[in-house]
Amino acid sequence: SPEKLEFKDTTINTSKVEDKTEESEHLSKNLDEAIDNAEIDYTRIISAEMGVSSEALYQYIPATKLKGMDDYVPESLHYSFYSSQSGDFPLVIEPETTFKFPEHLKVMTYEMGSELYKFPEPKRSNTGVFNFYPLDGSSVLPVLALCLQQADRVLDLCAAPGGKSLITLQTLLPDVLVCNDSSISRNNRLKNILRSYLIDYESNNKWRERILCKTVDGRIFTDDSGFDKVLVDVPCTTDRHSVMNDENNIFRPDRIKERLRIPELQSQLLLNALKLVKVGGAVVYSTCSLSPIQNDGVVHLALKQAFQANGIVAVVKDMSAPFSSLSSTLVLGSGSALPKYGQLVVPHVEANFGPAYIARLVRVK
Ligand code: SAM
Repeated sequence: SPEKLEFKDTTINTSKVEDKTEESEHLSKNLDEAIDNAEIDYTRIISAEMGVSSEALYQYIPATKLKGMDDYVPESLHYSFYSSQSGDFPLVIEPETTFKFPEHLKVMTYEMGSELYKFPEPKRSNTGVFNFYPLDGSSVLPVLALCLQQADRVLDLCAAPGGKSLITLQTLLPDVLVCNDSSISRNNRLKNILRSYLIDYESNNKWRERILCKTVDGRIFTDDSGFDKVLVDVPCTTDRHSVMNDENNIFRPDRIKERLRIPELQSQLLLNALKLVKVGGAVVYSTCSLSPIQNDGVVHLALKQAFQANGIVAVVKDMSAPFSSLSSTLVLGSGSALPKYGQLVVPHVEANFGPAYIARLVRVK
């Protein structure tokens, strides 16, 4: 029966379209062409995705019924492009051994499986700032994965509205934090958060020297000194939000081209982060999506481009050992949901956090 069809592998054989995309220097132009012009046998592709023969699939699902799935097929084609980019750059994955929970950071959360309750509204304390910042538990992890150290110079390349910047500051470790976001309105939200959570943010010059807010496109952000740590918390399909909100949903059929361009933007942001970090420093790439393209696919492509275009080499740090200690709070992807390079927080009925993907890259050249 159709229920027995299992989703086994997202690697699919779409050679016609791959040929078209690989020939072009410009991914987005080529991708549009591939999507617009390809003669696609949807049944063949979907059967490959499901790990069953197309004959078997035809038996269960008549070709006409597959029509509704058309919108999702180009996304699979796109993944085939990203996953086909392999083998010609140094790829090292090694276990992370330097992970340490920041001594001054305080995080409160629900116990797994406990009846979900609401945190009270944050209140202003007598210092004038709020007493806590509420956010999805998985949002703490990208900051932990930075493995911040005393006196680090840190860049948050896509910082607004500022949750992870604030956590970074709450570790009390960085000397300088540059908060960048290309959106002016979102940058204003970030400044509001800094005002609401940092004592005397407006009046004390010490903050001005240590927290620099910028509004630059992260793909072309430049800096002369280099950073010890760079966080790239990219724009993505924001899966939880997309499931909960219909309005302007990124999965709407008329936004498909926009959606397919997301990994391209993400890989350009990550590529620039790899240029901006010092040799020996670390880049953390994070999304709040379950999409393998936006997660491992983008990491793979950016590592390849960084090496081929700039001679940059970064080692992928396997965070599975340190992250396993969080398993009493969060559910991490395993089995077919286990990424190759990063860690995936999978929303679970007993631990309703995420989704979040976090990959840690240490630049070695
Ligand atoms: N790190 C933030 C936090 O913890 O609050 C959330 C970041 S949100 C997932 C992604 C951000 O990327 C958005 O605020 C968006 O404005 C910004 N963004 C989109 N394109 C960008 C670009 N080209 N350069 C820099 N920022 C960009």
